[in-house]
Amino acid sequence: MAIDLVSRAEWGARSPRGSYTPLRSTRGVKVHYTGGHVPPGIVDDHARCAALVRQIQNGHMDGNGWIDIGYTMAVCPHRKVFVGRGPNHLPAANGPGLNSGHYAVLGLVGSSGLVEPPDGMLHGIVDAIEYLRGEGGAGREIKGHRDGYATACPGEALYAWVRRGAPRPGGGPAKSEGAGKGAVQTPPWPGRYLRYPPVMHGDDVRTWQERMRQRGWQITADGAYGPQSRQVCLAFQREKRIEGFNIAVDGIVGPVTWRLSWEAPIT
Ligand SMILES: [Zn+2]
Ligand SMILES: [Zn+2]
Repeated sequence: MAIDLVSRAEWGARSPRGSYTPLRSTRGVKVHYTGGHVPPGIVDDHARCAALVRQIQNGHMDGNGWIDIGYTMAVCPHRKVFVGRGPNHLPAANGPGLNSGHYAVLGLVGSSGLVEPPDGMLHGIVDAIEYLRGEGGAGREIKGHRDGYATACPGEALYAWVRRGAPRPGGGPAKSEGAGKGAVQTPPWPGRYLRYPPVMHGDDVRTWQERMRQRGWQITADGAYGPQSRQVCLAFQREKRIEGFNIAVDGIVGPVTWRLSWEAPIT
């Protein structure tokens, strides 16, 4: 499904008060929440989503004195992606000195009211990230506002999802070994490559490490993909002759290595 953009005219945006600072590329995207109360009723009324985005823009322009809403894009529960400053423009929401490194994508959840991002919002955030990679030179990083800045943003629910690599919802377990009772189900590919260096952290890393422990490898399930994880991955890829899948023995847990970690015979 193509990205469902809401143009600035469509959401009734005010014109920016000045020129945007150009931005050719970034290391990636940082995910945000509103930090305040989001009325749960927006889930049933998209018009209220637009009103909320206008309210945020007013706060940023009149309260913070910014030239425009601080976010690059904003995403509502209806998988619609509001154009904020848009690609190739410096955002303002990441904090001083942190704006040229990442675009800023807002999910319309808050610290009270609507706090759990609906599936449509998660899909919309991924739509926005892919759009910014294509249109704005965004790199592979997907981070939370709190990464590198003292804030609770983007809240526990969104941040946990970001740390899992921002997977699309409903990936569902892959079909494997007959799905009979007691069959091990393959968790969905987390959507990011687990590699070292540098050390990568996340629940997806821990999930893979625990699986490799179950398979009998000597590995600590600490959620940090470091030298030990890389060594285990290399040995596993060699054992499974992963080159047969046109994948190099590279110590990186990609989609194929991930799937084999659950589905390949243990021996
Ligand atoms: Zn934020
Ligand atoms: Zn909406």
